[in-house]
Amino acid sequence: MSYFVTTEQANQVLSKLLETYDVYAPKRFPKQGRFSDTDIIRYAKVEKVDDIVYDEKSDFPAKEVINPIQQAIFYFTEDEFRASKGHTRPILLFARPCDINAQKVQARIFMDNGGYQDLYYARMRELINFVLMECPGGDDTCFCCSMGTNKTDNYVMAVRFGEDGLKVEVKDDKFAPYFEGAAADDFTPKFVEENQTKVTVPEIPDKDVLLALKNHPMWREFDKRCVSCGACTIACSTCTCFTTRDIVYGQNPEVGERHRIAASCQIDGFSDIAGGFGYRKTAGDRMRYKVLHKFHDYKVRFGEDMCVGCGRCTSRCPAYIPITATVGKMAAAAEEIKKEQGK
Ligand code: SF4
Ligand code: SF4
Repeated sequence: MSYFVTTEQANQVLSKLLETYDVYAPKRFPKQGRFSDTDIIRYAKVEKVDDIVYDEKSDFPAKEVINPIQQAIFYFTEDEFRASKGHTRPILLFARPCDINAQKVQARIFMDNGGYQDLYYARMRELINFVLMECPGGDDTCFCCSMGTNKTDNYVMAVRFGEDGLKVEVKDDKFAPYFEGAAADDFTPKFVEENQTKVTVPEIPDKDVLLALKNHPMWREFDKRCVSCGACTIACSTCTCFTTRDIVYGQNPEVGERHRIAASCQIDGFSDIAGGFGYRKTAGDRMRYKVLHKFHDYKVRFGEDMCVGCGRCTSRCPAYIPITATVGKMAAAAEEIKKEQGK
């Protein structure tokens, strides 16, 4: 069933929902952007429909709500510990199709990975109800259609924002009572069918091609261009890597809390091991690892590419390295290698 609600009616619905749910959506934070006098749009709790930024892509992904950049995972004293209590109220999470599909990617890593289930991700994920935000088309960094992540049916409600109100499809009947008395509508969400930017993910037929691709000179370009800041992975909708840090409360180092903090494969030292050896010492090596992981390795293991084409890594990169151009270069290198190897 679908409805049309004016902005005033939508705010009344939202206040009723807030009695049971926490509601997270993209929100504007004025003057907190990367450059002077620019804003940032990131996920936060909202209490009014007007707080929701629907006509611009958020700088950071919806994953921040489920898998935050930093969280306390347990508290310890000398001889005991207890896990952090975590969120308890159910959540309505407003998200575009790429962000919803990104959680399918993250769930495979955190909840369906060789029998291992991550407590902190799983307990948060159980609380999530996606509210699909109809995507008006993204921007010139988006390439969801190339990655097949432009559509989803994983939502309880879908919303189209307009000047005078909202159109809402209620897919899960438990939300229908909130719209009692609202005008019926025939709305169903539309999905983006074509992006301005397109990507062709290279076919890597065997290990010989893969090995030659890993050793291809194209990666050396990034030794000079990439500044190894890790901004691309922190903004990425699907990256899951984290490290831990202990915060002690006072002089006794055995009393404190352990935090889990997002880590980046793009930062020097990420792959260092005991004895001082590092597997990926240059920025180009680290770029090769990231791009192959997103556009080959994850697929070999789980059957789908890891990247959802949200384009946030491109937007956040201070060195203006677009992921789409990098994949394009990798595709050209793969073709060159296949020709050389007669494949
Ligand atoms: S690699 Fe870039 S485009 Fe792909 S999901 Fe991550 S941030 Fe989005
Ligand atoms: S954001 Fe750009 S410069 Fe920073 S690590 Fe990623 S690719 Fe390199």
